[in-house]
Amino acid sequence: MYRITIDRDACDGVFACLVRDDRFVEDDEGLAAIETDDQTAIAATFDDDRRNDAEQAAAACPLDAIQVETVEEDVGAVDAPVTDTEEVQP
Ligand code: SF4
Repeated sequence: MYRITIDRDACDGVFACLVRDDRFVEDDEGLAAIETDDQTAIAATFDDDRRNDAEQAAAACPLDAIQVETVEEDVGAVDAPVTDTEEVQP
């Protein structure tokens, strides 16, 4: 089981990741996001045989904005939807 996380502060929309792993998509803000079965997210956990694709995407990212790490538990297929990145100023 592994987790992909995109650092959206680092990402600048070069999109080298998209051609390595088709789970990476361009979202409405012009930045990379991870597409899962039911959402677009900035972090998602997977238990499949595609970790190598994610690592290829991470290696291709010129800004090191993609992290792929082993996780012990399924913390939810998606626990960080893109909309959670938007901060509401008081
Ligand atoms: S390759 Fe990196 S900088 Fe480019 S879109 Fe993907 S995550 Fe963002």
